[in-house]
Amino acid sequence: MDTVKIPEIYGSLVFNDKVMKERLPKDVYKAVHKAIASGSSLELDVANTVAASMKEWAIEKGATHYTHWFQPMTGLTAEKHDSFISPQANGTVIMEFSGKELVKGEPDASSFPSGGLRATFEARGYTAWDPSSPAFIKDGTLYIPTAFCSYGGEALDKKTPLLRSMAALSEEAVKVLHLLGNTAVTHVDTTVGSEQEYFLIDKDMYLKRKDLLMCGRTLIGAPAPKGQEMEDHYFGVLKPKVSEYMHDLDQELWKLGVPAKTKHNEVAPSQHELAPVFETANVAVDHNQLTMEVMKKVADKHGYACLLHEKPFDGVNGSGKHNNWSIVTDTGVNLLDPGKTPAENTQFLVFLMAVIAAVDDYQDLMRVSVATAGNDHRLGANEAPPAIISIFVGDELAGVLKAIDEGKDFVGTGKIKMDLGAPVLPNITKDTTDRNRTSPFAFTGNKFEFRMPGSSLSVADPNIVLNTAVAESLSKIYDKLKDVKPEDMSTAVTALVKQMLDAHKRILFNGNGYTDAWVAEAEKRGLYNLKSLPEAMPRLIADKNVELFTKHGIFTKEELDSRYEIFLENYVKTIHIESLTMQEMVRKDFTCGIVSYMKDITNETLKKKQLMPSLDCSYEEKIIGTLDAAEAKICTAVEKLDEDTKTAEKIEDELKCATYYYKTILSDMAELRASVDKAEAIIPDSYLPYPTYGQMLFSLR
Ligand code: ADP
Ligand code: MG
Repeated sequence: MDTVKIPEIYGSLVFNDKVMKERLPKDVYKAVHKAIASGSSLELDVANTVAASMKEWAIEKGATHYTHWFQPMTGLTAEKHDSFISPQANGTVIMEFSGKELVKGEPDASSFPSGGLRATFEARGYTAWDPSSPAFIKDGTLYIPTAFCSYGGEALDKKTPLLRSMAALSEEAVKVLHLLGNTAVTHVDTTVGSEQEYFLIDKDMYLKRKDLLMCGRTLIGAPAPKGQEMEDHYFGVLKPKVSEYMHDLDQELWKLGVPAKTKHNEVAPSQHELAPVFETANVAVDHNQLTMEVMKKVADKHGYACLLHEKPFDGVNGSGKHNNWSIVTDTGVNLLDPGKTPAENTQFLVFLMAVIAAVDDYQDLMRVSVATAGNDHRLGANEAPPAIISIFVGDELAGVLKAIDEGKDFVGTGKIKMDLGAPVLPNITKDTTDRNRTSPFAFTGNKFEFRMPGSSLSVADPNIVLNTAVAESLSKIYDKLKDVKPEDMSTAVTALVKQMLDAHKRILFNGNGYTDAWVAEAEKRGLYNLKSLPEAMPRLIADKNVELFTKHGIFTKEELDSRYEIFLENYVKTIHIESLTMQEMVRKDFTCGIVSYMKDITNETLKKKQLMPSLDCSYEEKIIGTLDAAEAKICTAVEKLDEDTKTAEKIEDELKCATYYYKTILSDMAELRASVDKAEAIIPDSYLPYPTYGQMLFSLR
């Protein structure tokens, strides 16, 4: 492998702060910097200068086009490339790019999901430059991160509400910090680090499976003799070719300024993970989208297909995306770091309680934010957190909280006795927050880790909810403390923390989230257990949640209604495609396998009987019998799936339709799969026109 100087390639395709400092006039650079730090917009003359500089830089790097890169409700990214050329009267061209073109784009919005927000006759959409996320070059095009909205200004994307939620959180956090005496802070940012899980399989095998091609997950397939039970893959030695892939992936990401940091094998065979260094939430979201895209592209180059579906294979773990989240002030303090001094401790306690209250009050929204057809296969299976939201805080912090709740002194493991009359916390050493892999929302020393997001999800979704819910908690805290005199503040904070803890302690759970006992206990505590998307989605438009989003200016009621519609529609379409793909794959590919094997084995058995009537054919007959029985069941099951899918197509009410897909179509598919897999398990691989689980999961070198 070539040796590369990482500092030289890192960010080499990014119009980052360093490039701007070098290339922009001082006052323009300052104006941009200020706009980024405060989250405000830029004057047109400043934008003109930035655009000219960006264009020059991009052309030097070989770019010929630019694109406003945005994140519509498909959950993917979208781009339309325009070249810089501007034809001149004398038949030549000059390369042009204006401030106006940088700041605003006008793509036709009519073919993106809008959930009824935009009639096709009002097709115009706008993209608006997000200067806080750096532009970059990919495949000869300058990519400008943007937000996407309709002609009427309604958000049609995931970035607009994310930016709104970051601003709302900042506003409420600053108010509370000022009350607590921390007046130096003028702005806070949310920080996000999203660990990304993925599978790699051989590309030729991938191309032979219609289910992977159309749906991203296998819809049939008998289990391989070996799964993940040996626990030999997690953190295992990287196979040489996989290691080459990861090396190449890192390099490509580094060039784009994506801080890829950690790579390792995951639990399931052929499953891996990449974790970046955390960044400001909107940049982290952009970078996670890029990461997923680059993962697929580099995989292709290495003869792999990269699977980002939440559940590509039955019987082994699916893939998630842990969303690590915290809040940092513009003075550089992580507000979820317990800190070393009593003042920091007070601040920490307040923000910790704000998060706990937020997650309790808006559990339903947290669940909704990770609801997709794919992720429903993970949540609740014993591999990912259950569909019930709870918070793990670790033993020591739980001890502190318990002492506060009971109004007692807290004696820490270091035997430090804390008098809670003065609101102090012992120094929480980070290691004392032990790992609890079954918890959906865990405090991990100086940040929270939300483990429910699925691997293909845009992390914008959970962060919008988290930011907004915490902004609301902080707003309530501010209201309770705003009239307290400074000298009474610490007593008032202690009292408030105790009161909030009392109100929200039901959400705290340090035990094993995978047990039935927890499901029963959670029900007693009144926690939500929203098992599927159709069960969860109505919560998005429940009154209390509409109130939350509208109060903080994140979504209007119309925007929420549109999202509700889009999410349900997407769920329905996903399972509809799965049903049709499964029918086709069973009727054509699988049937071809079973029929030719039956023909061969029946002919051979007949021949054997004719040639030597005394020979025992019971083994062959048993196989024929099993396959014959399976065929009969498959025939019935595939017809039922077909009919029920036709019924589903006619249901007009979106929620009813989604519920029907969940209850009827998914169970039809499970029924069909059971018989297919049973038969597949005894059909020789060579008869099947597609690769088996064993071949796909154990072929990496
Ligand atoms: P794990 O032990 O869960 O595998 P790591 O300690 O490797 O996790 O870190 C997980 C992720 O958390 C990384 O992406 C890291 O950058 C991120 N992270 C660390 N600190 C913060 C923070 N203050 N805010 C947001 N994310 C953070
Ligand atoms: Mg983690």
